[in-house]
Amino acid sequence: MRLADYVSNQSNVPMTSAVTPPEIHSVRRRQDARSRRTNTFQTATAPVAKAATEGNKRQNNTSNAQKSLVTLTSVTKTYDNGSQALRNVSLQVKRGDFLFVTGPSGAGKSTLLKLLYGQERATSGDILVDDQNLAKLKGNRLAMLRRRIGIVFQDYKLIPRRTVAENVSFVLWAQGYSRREINRRLRPTLRMVGLQHKSNCFPDQLSGGEQQRVSIARAVVSTPPLLLADEPTGNLDGDNSRQVIKILEKLNSIGITVIITTHDEQLVRSSSHPVVQIQHGRLTYVRH
Ligand code: ADP
Repeated sequence: MRLADYVSNQSNVPMTSAVTPPEIHSVRRRQDARSRRTNTFQTATAPVAKAATEGNKRQNNTSNAQKSLVTLTSVTKTYDNGSQALRNVSLQVKRGDFLFVTGPSGAGKSTLLKLLYGQERATSGDILVDDQNLAKLKGNRLAMLRRRIGIVFQDYKLIPRRTVAENVSFVLWAQGYSRREINRRLRPTLRMVGLQHKSNCFPDQLSGGEQQRVSIARAVVSTPPLLLADEPTGNLDGDNSRQVIKILEKLNSIGITVIITTHDEQLVRSSSHPVVQIQHGRLTYVRH
């Protein structure tokens, strides 16, 4: 089932805890004005899903299935202190792919993801994400691309004094979604990660696995076409790790392209998804 359909089917009951904090209202007003000026972004994030639509198209249209969402060509990243994190990396990730990026600590995995969402700039080489050349994107245009990329971190990065519902909603408020639309998306997204019954809990009332599932819900509630997960199972035991992977696979099955870094060899071996490995900044394909 596509996420768009999933949300439509499940969205009749509003979430009671969706209260808009005052500081978020002002962000929303600014974003509303900006969104009105920017048709591309509005189209891209409008009712649940370009990503899901992409997934649907993928099944019906062979040429689209071949289309890259991410392309790196001869990318090198050297940090200011001289540390060479990536060396001559080329990689293509097609729409709808689920890709594992493995390698030991310090190999360059996080750097790769940071380049993809524009937190760091490549020293040389080209990076295309959703047909946009990252080297040429600045300011508002870079911010708009970032909104179309969901990110999950090893340490969850939840807001401690906000409930689960508020943590997940925040990203939508900040992007200018109406309260009605937020309520429409919130419940099915929490249901998808199995946390509908925890919506009023605070992060410190949740287990590590649950916190990670909240962070996944937050990353996908705006239905981005691309989800980057940086060691999402790094702090979790085996059972919770497998649960996280299952959720990511579920998201992938409704059309979201997933790139996940991990140094957990067992996790990678127990799946059949494509794998690339980074060692000392060099990337090689392990399994296509
Ligand atoms: P991984 O995610 O595989 O553990 P990283 O991408 O975090 O690896 O790091 C790759 C290399 O780049 C390491 O040698 C690390 O010390 C270095 N590095 C990462 N971030 C920075 C930074 N902000 N400044 C300088 N060096 C960095």
